[in-house]
Amino acid sequence: MPKAKETVLEIDLAALTHNFDYLKSKLKPTTKFLAVIKAFAYGSDSVEIAKHLEHLKIDYFAVAYVKEGVVLRDAGITTPILVLHPQPVNFKTLIDRCLEPSLYSAKVLNAFIKVAKEQSQNNYPVHIKFNTGLNRLGFWENDVDYICSQLKDTTSISVKSIFSHLAASEAVDEIHFTKKQIKNFEGIAKAFETKTGQKPWLHLCNTSGLINYPEAHFDMVRSGIGLYGFGNSAKEDENLKPIASLKSVISQIHKIEKDETVGYNRAYKASGFEKTATIPVGHADGIARIYGKGKGFVIINNKRAPIIGNVCMDMIMVNVTDIDCYEGDEVIVFDATHKASTLSESANTISYEILTAISQRVKRLLLR
Ligand SMILES: *Cc1c(COP(=O)(O)O)cnc(C)c1O
Repeated sequence: MPKAKETVLEIDLAALTHNFDYLKSKLKPTTKFLAVIKAFAYGSDSVEIAKHLEHLKIDYFAVAYVKEGVVLRDAGITTPILVLHPQPVNFKTLIDRCLEPSLYSAKVLNAFIKVAKEQSQNNYPVHIKFNTGLNRLGFWENDVDYICSQLKDTTSISVKSIFSHLAASEAVDEIHFTKKQIKNFEGIAKAFETKTGQKPWLHLCNTSGLINYPEAHFDMVRSGIGLYGFGNSAKEDENLKPIASLKSVISQIHKIEKDETVGYNRAYKASGFEKTATIPVGHADGIARIYGKGKGFVIINNKRAPIIGNVCMDMIMVNVTDIDCYEGDEVIVFDATHKASTLSESANTISYEILTAISQRVKRLLLR
């Protein structure tokens, strides 16, 4: 791999294949795999990730919003796409682009039935979302009767799946709660099947659920973070390969004396003679201000260089006093060895956040 000469996000498709194969090996052969590719496929490139996974014969995709599904359809993706959080204002577009809505409340269900009818749809596939303890989106268990009564009166839609989302699938101290959610979900599915005589697909697990609760895979699993190389535990991280590497370059090196300051608001003050490097990656690229003032770091010639002072919009300054380095040298913000999760932990946050923050300004480079 040639060294980075500007800020770039490398996306390793072989690592994606590895993660997909690893996660799939945990499933029964008949269990379907839905890849969650919302938020630019967790900050990478949703179109390229979708094309690669389609080639690997993925069963389903999910995005959060209609707009994200439209981008995939425009790129020629034909796999079914579940939209996890659609807004009724976009229902006509959703139908036009053959996207499938998650319907999570009476208001949203009825709004969708109305639009599907207006668009002369028959048995349009929809997915009913239940709340089993996350208390975010979803019908409640005792809404089953109501949903069934609304379904009886329409031929415009057809329930392809029933699903829910775990609140703490990665937390070992919440196993009891998670098991209760699984039971609750089974009860809902049974009630739905009994009342309608239909047997829609059932799905509940995200990546950590897939790994920790094999008994809850049902008909399909929904994995996001695992495909991108993180398993929410040190043990699982070993089995996965981060697909994204954020690299940059040293633009300029400064030598400063004791008591000179660095960056806006003079937030860093040198305690002696020091050497600093300015890197062309800032909060507009996804390195939040929280990483400034010594919390975050980059890797230069295999050594950690802490971010000093405030993160600027387009740049950070790092301390390289003890690093043998020159203008033009490559800088690793994170890669498969220096993981995004280590950097995110330095600011007390999670890999999901730093990955999805990488802005569209950063050039994406596909490694095939
Ligand atoms: C984002 C999301 C997922 C994927 O979760 P990971 O932890 O990234 O695997 C699955 N299901 C729903 C409903 C989601 O919103």
